[in-house]
Parts: sequence; C-alpha cells; structure tokens
Amino acid sequence: MSGSLFSVIVPMYNEEEVIGTTFERLKQVMDSLGERYELIFVNDGSKDRSADIIKQLAEQHQEVVLIDFSRNFGHQIAITAGMDYARGDAIIIIDADLQDPPEVILQMIDKWRDGYEVVYGKRVKRKGETWFKKATAKIFYRTLRALTNVDIPADTGDFRLIDRKVCDVLKGLKEKNRFVRGLVSWIGFRQTSVEFVREERFAGVTKYPLKRMLRFALDAITSFSYKPLKIASYIGFTISFFSFIYLVIVVYQRLFTNTTTAGWASIVAINLLFNGIILILLGVIGEYIGRIYDETKNRPLYIVRECIGQQQDEEAPRL
Ligand code: UDP
Ligand code: MG
Repeated sequence: MSGSLFSVIVPMYNEEEVIGTTFERLKQVMDSLGERYELIFVNDGSKDRSADIIKQLAEQHQEVVLIDFSRNFGHQIAITAGMDYARGDAIIIIDADLQDPPEVILQMIDKWRDGYEVVYGKRVKRKGETWFKKATAKIFYRTLRALTNVDIPADTGDFRLIDRKVCDVLKGLKEKNRFVRGLVSWIGFRQTSVEFVREERFAGVTKYPLKRMLRFALDAITSFSYKPLKIASYIGFTISFFSFIYLVIVVYQRLFTNTTTAGWASIVAINLLFNGIILILLGVIGEYIGRIYDETKNRPLYIVRECIGQQQDEEAPRL
C-alpha cells in the first residue's frame, strides 16, 4: 500500500525537557518509512515552553502540527483532539515522554499493512517505574477486567495504531469522560498487539499523580460498567437480611427473656458502621449521576486556542 498518509498524535503536558528529543526520534523513524506523515502535538495547557518549542519546529518542518488547548483538559481528551485533527490513513498515538519507543511504530505499521485495524502496544516490561505505580496499574487492570464486559487487554496503554475507519468511529463517540483504550476495545475490528519494553521516562516527572490515577480509574470503570451500582444494592440486601434476623432476636429477647440490653457502645458502633456504608454507596451513585450531568451539559470536549501547521481547508475538524 504505497502513498499512505500517517498521523502521529503526541499529547503533551509540561514536557519541555523531552519534547525536542521526541520530535527528533519520531522524525527519524517516520522518515525511514519514505511515506507522507504528520506529527500532531497536542499541547494540553502546558505551563512551560512545550508549545513554543513545537511552534518553532512547525516553522521549519511542514509535517509538524500544533494543537494548542486553552487550558489543561487531560490526557484522554488531548488524544481525542488529535484524532479529530488527524488526516492519516493510519493514526498512531504515542506518549511524549519517550516511554513508548518510537521505533515500535514501524512494527505496528507492518501489522496494519497485514490488514489489522488496531495494533496496540503490549508492555512486556516496565522500566524505571516505581513498584507503587506498577502495583496500582496491576490492580487497576485486574479490577477493570472483573467489573466490565469489555475485553480490555491487560498491560496496554494508549500507545497504539488505529486505522482511519476506527478513528472515524471513535470520533462519533461523544462521551465526555473518555477512557480511550476502553473505547477502542469496545468498537471491535481486527485487533492485534506488538510487544515492547516500556522505557524509563526520558526526562521530567509523571503527570499522573495518585489523584489523577484515581480519577482515571473511576472514569474507566464507570464508563464501562454499572456493576458498582449493583454491588451497592447487593450490600444493601445483605445488610437488610442480617438486620432483619437480628431484629427478630431482639424482639424475642425483649418479650421472653430477662436479659436487659446494656450495650450503648454496640449501638453507636453499628450506627457508625452503617452510616459509613450508606455514605459510600451514595458516593458510588453520585459518581454516576455526576457523569450523567457532564454528558447533559453538552459542552465541547476541549477548546483550542490555535492550530498551527495544518491547512484548515482540507477537512474541518469536529468540535
Ligand atoms: N499528558 C497530557 N495531559 C495531562 C497529563 C498527561 O497530555 O493532563 C500527557 C503527558 O505529557 C504524556 C502522556 O500524557 O505524554 C502520559 O503521561 P505520563 O507520562 O505523565 O503518564 P505515565 O507514563 O507516568 O503514566
Ligand atoms: Mg509516561
């Protein structure tokens, strides 16, 4: 298949230390293909010089595109914006920090040429990440598998290649709390993987502190499963069942025995426990209602300050 156009999407948030090198490595790999390509850098509201660096590169290299967000909208939204602007026959999503080795793209493209429509990168090893990150990632993927019906492959990130067709379908899924790799699994198509070793971050620090990881995990689970809601009602049923039995016992004791209840402490303890459980379950329901609220507001997913380096007349992107 000659004459293909490839789009590489790079979401970046405060990546000034690494982004220049990322560009070099990507350029090298894509040049070696001898096909047309565009490198779409989505600046997700960086507070450093990331955008300026790309702007300069865009002046010198016509294949560089910068989509500059008005503020930080989040990694998954940045990827989505990249897809909206991508014009390639195949679209590759890669992190800015060189943890996903650009050279693997060539293997992905080979698989794509074999007819696969989604080629995701499978991390066989993760270098230089803390045990905490690895452990939480592992728990996250296991929980996700247990709670959802969608077959989201373990140990894959957003590093992947998708065909034009897949990209167009994804653009049609307009949900706000996006978990892109889940959506990709959900839509099907012919999927395969290539294995790679996840490198250490080239420079800078992770942009996923614990709070963001939790947010991310919640988005992933709630957008693909309502089992947590069911779990809430199961817990409710179980507690009611045992409470009822206990009630019978209490009534029996009151009527037929002389044992007076001394237990103030036990009442307080049980009260606190049950109130806690009720609040947790309300919280679970709240998570879903909040997401329903987000969807109904119908705000755009992201706001672009400017887009540099792409001829706008060819294909207008969806907002
Ligand atoms: N990122 C982003 N917006 C954010 C957070 C992260 O665009 O709000 C980008 C970041 O620049 C990087 C990718 O998403 O290219 C993955 O982030 P990071 O490497 O910090 O995550 P980790 O690899 O530690 O999970
Ligand atoms: Mg990283």
